[in-house]
Amino acid sequence: MSLNSHGLKEVEEVLHQEIQSSIKDPQLQTASATENDLDLNLKLASQEVLERAQQIGRSKCPKCSSSRMFYCYSCYIPVETVPVKNIPVVKLPLKIDIIKHPNETDGKSTAVHAKLLAPEDVTIYTYPCIPEYEDKKHEIVLVFPGPNSVSVEDCLLYLAMEPAAKRRKCTSKEEKQLHESKLTNTIENTAQVKMKTLLRKVVFIDSTWNQTNKIISDERLQGLVQVELKKRKTCFWRHQKGKPDTYLSTIEAIYYFLVDYHSLILKETYKGEYDNLLFFFSFMYKLIKTAKHSTGKV
Ligand SMILES: [Zn+2]
Repeated sequence: MSLNSHGLKEVEEVLHQEIQSSIKDPQLQTASATENDLDLNLKLASQEVLERAQQIGRSKCPKCSSSRMFYCYSCYIPVETVPVKNIPVVKLPLKIDIIKHPNETDGKSTAVHAKLLAPEDVTIYTYPCIPEYEDKKHEIVLVFPGPNSVSVEDCLLYLAMEPAAKRRKCTSKEEKQLHESKLTNTIENTAQVKMKTLLRKVVFIDSTWNQTNKIISDERLQGLVQVELKKRKTCFWRHQKGKPDTYLSTIEAIYYFLVDYHSLILKETYKGEYDNLLFFFSFMYKLIKTAKHSTGKV
């Protein structure tokens, strides 16, 4: 893409003045990695529609008539310059719930990317209006870093232990040992089979890292198996200084979770099935990278 014809001003328009603030704000830093997954070849649908929309500038949301770039972050639909037919649709192997912090600035959130690109599989909730997960804890994981979190690979072993392992109370030592060995066998024998069907839904929290405490401590989320994506590094231009670069934006977390799920749990070779989840993200990432290069801020 070329920035020459419209320059940095046009790019600023693209992200609602976000670029300028991310360049100037010392609290924000660009991910340190010079080469990462977003620089590599993602299998993406043509982004020509976004290039065109960027050149035209803001356009109307067909539903609420707000003036937006690319998509309306309130209605979760593309604007008039971005026909729905030119937006890829990604079919996900799992349902995704995103819990959004009410104070989160909608325009800065990447959660809406998931809803736009996988509308059938993604639901966005605004906290505190969230579903009850109590009866479905055996088929749901929550992606969030923390001391109790486990890897994607291990999360299904923990799900397989629920609820039988916890419900069972053993009285004698022998009974306990017998139960434990049975449990180990059960897990080993059934985990592999169950793994593919056990996990049905993944919950993500969309909030700045400083605002998540209230959500994560909500009693409706207690007892869910918690997963952390420890090996992935963020490329998000609004990544907060002082936070580890493994703290991902929402769309990155969803994408990497699904890539890991595909290869580690479904045991299938990943061939870019979910790359289009980064359709908007990678486009914006490249714009900002180019803009920063042009202003000598990298
Ligand atoms: Zn709208």
